[in-house]
Amino acid sequence: MVIALKLLLLLLAGFTLPGELTAQNQDTYAFTNVTVIPMDTERTLPGHTVVVRDGVITQIGPTATTPAPDDVTVIPGDGRYLLPGLAEMHAHVPPGQDPPREDIEETLFLYLAGGITTIRGMLGAPYQLELREELRRGEVPGPHFYVGAPSLNANTAPTPEAADSLVRAHAEAGYDFLKIHPGVPLDAWDRMVEVAREVGITFGGHVPADVGIHHAIETGMATIDHLDGFVQATRIEGLAFGERTAMYRATDPDKLDALTRKIADHGTWLVPTQYLWNHLNGYVDPDSILAKPEFRYISPQQRENYRARAERNRQNPEITPESHEAHAEMRQEFLAAAHRNGAPILMGTDSPQLFNVPGFALHRELPLMVDAGMSPYEVLVSGTREVARYVEESLGQPGNFGTVTVGNRADLILLGGDPLADIDALRRLEGVMVEGRWIDGQTISNRLEEIAARHAQGG
Ligand SMILES: [Zn+2]
Repeated sequence: MVIALKLLLLLLAGFTLPGELTAQNQDTYAFTNVTVIPMDTERTLPGHTVVVRDGVITQIGPTATTPAPDDVTVIPGDGRYLLPGLAEMHAHVPPGQDPPREDIEETLFLYLAGGITTIRGMLGAPYQLELREELRRGEVPGPHFYVGAPSLNANTAPTPEAADSLVRAHAEAGYDFLKIHPGVPLDAWDRMVEVAREVGITFGGHVPADVGIHHAIETGMATIDHLDGFVQATRIEGLAFGERTAMYRATDPDKLDALTRKIADHGTWLVPTQYLWNHLNGYVDPDSILAKPEFRYISPQQRENYRARAERNRQNPEITPESHEAHAEMRQEFLAAAHRNGAPILMGTDSPQLFNVPGFALHRELPLMVDAGMSPYEVLVSGTREVARYVEESLGQPGNFGTVTVGNRADLILLGGDPLADIDALRRLEGVMVEGRWIDGQTISNRLEEIAARHAQGG
């Protein structure tokens, strides 16, 4: 009886109408005749079969000699590309203690719809720890979730004692890492570093001004997000800065070189978030940005917030088209130097901050990484293999993803074009798989239309 009931429940849970999104069971699948981009080295494997069982990649071989097994669901890959799912390493899920469930699930889905199978949450709340487990168990469709703790900042960690107890509490609660915001004083920072080492948790995010980027790197900061601290550390000495454009055009190339070499030597990961910062300090026309298709997927309130922020910048006499351009060029120069000198880079956007729609913002960020001198392959590394290395080395958790390799977690995306030739092919998503749970292209577009309809009604 119990067994029969269990079987019934399994059947019900696994039963999905085509094009309908539910929490899905892992099934057995074979992608056939697909071009695999394994991401172990820069190569492609045309005409291949990839078999997935129980959430794991179990077989890879030429379709001619590796036909799909009899008991599997076949996903034809003709003319398509199969590669590891991407990561959003500076993600946000809805903030607060108990945000509406609908908002949470929608955000998680938007990440999937952008081809993202791993997110790193950059502002924790207790509910996210439970959400992480639900995602792990496949109870809600969404990416794997590494959860940062509620941030250490000027208010939460003003003293060494406060930092000490906060680090212990966050580690005890089970957060995956510590998030740093501006304002942490130097003595509180140093205590945080000490206690974090003792309890075995790593830290990343912003570089507090009192700490400075050099000390942050030397004390083992795992990730520096937004290229924070670069401006302060690379200005030409002895110049007085009256206005922004001059300040943005005053990078000392030797200092920048030295800084980025040091970052490479220490293995500090950078999460650049160029698209966001171009807008945060930018002079832009909100209407032309909000006309882009992805803004249908967020609420009118959110769109209004974005517009108001852009308008405020336009009314700020310090921000001009010239300062916008100088700032954007400076940030690209930073990223180019970091890349040239071998600093490890992770893909991320800071969605849903200013003009960053979860999932879709990544496709705005990646061309900027290419413009800064990274090849499409190197950009893909920053969102796949390198993420697995970060998870293993910094978070101390299994890095069994990020390449299409037998034994790895089946986190995969199927594309209608070759992203090694053109990074924009990542927008041509035809399906996403998270640990063996497959969501096809039709299901993705149906759900996106539902989301757009909800927000068209002002929801
Ligand atoms: Zn953020």
